[in-house]
Amino acid sequence: ESERLRLPPWLKTSIPTGSKFSAIKEQLRSLKLSTVCEEARCPNIGECWSGGKHGTSTATIMLMGDTCTRGCMFCSVKTSRAPPPLDPDEPRNTAKAIYEWGLGYIVLTSVDRDDLPDGGSCHIAETVKEIKKQNHEILVECLVPDFRGNRDSIGTIANCGLDVFAHNIETVERLTPFVRDKRAGYRQTLKVLETAKEINPDLITKSSIMLGLGETDQQVEQTMKDLRAVGVDCVTLGQYMQPTKRHLKVHEYVTPAKFKEWEILGNKLGFLYTASGPLVRSSYRAGEFFISSLLR
Ligand code: SF4
Ligand code: SF4
Repeated sequence: ESERLRLPPWLKTSIPTGSKFSAIKEQLRSLKLSTVCEEARCPNIGECWSGGKHGTSTATIMLMGDTCTRGCMFCSVKTSRAPPPLDPDEPRNTAKAIYEWGLGYIVLTSVDRDDLPDGGSCHIAETVKEIKKQNHEILVECLVPDFRGNRDSIGTIANCGLDVFAHNIETVERLTPFVRDKRAGYRQTLKVLETAKEINPDLITKSSIMLGLGETDQQVEQTMKDLRAVGVDCVTLGQYMQPTKRHLKVHEYVTPAKFKEWEILGNKLGFLYTASGPLVRSSYRAGEFFISSLLR
């Protein structure tokens, strides 16, 4: 086994602590809301939850349980062919908790549920409707599975009242078979993003690329161009981090300067915004970026 790469200084971060965070965490316990931000020990929690200069705080939560029907090589979520059934109260309870928290922007993500005929699209759509019913102001982003390209399921999401439709391409075309579950495809992802926009042209669409998996610059550039070609509005680029020893190894730690180059290219290609940096995750400061891009 080859030696693992050493962690460069720009990735050495600590999880924020302090009384403000303890207070928010306490509140979340009482709301029974668990966030991906906390569970993944995301280093961006300070920036996302505080909301920057427009005060648009962002958090991410995961719907439809903690067990996925797929097994991507970069992801540490549990896998099963038959995960437990959906919780019918989840849409309402989630909406209530989010309202009480008082967030500006919520990202709803989920596991893939290939076991359900609609892939869980109705459950996600219902959650969005409940959230918007409780709070007209809040912005909602759904980071959705590919629904195996099913147009009805994509339409259910595209027309549910969300603000941002996100689906991640994750990596360049050549590496896709080695990185993502074999049911996921590069072309299928592009098609899903294109279909969402076609069904609802008012939607903002968004996708995310992980770097450091062995992709070339030319391939990253091509992926960004492919996303633009299907009308994707926002793109994020971040460093891939190996979640456990059993997962794909990091091929390279991409430098902050290189990430800056991708941001410049993204702006040149006409994305509404490009969030690019070693610690960027697809939901990184999403509310803040969204508002700033509208004000530009
Ligand atoms: Fe993880 Fe999503 Fe892949 Fe499931 S589909 S294994 S949640 S990345
Ligand atoms: Fe949460 Fe995403 Fe921000 Fe991390 S990047 S703190 S997961 S909203």
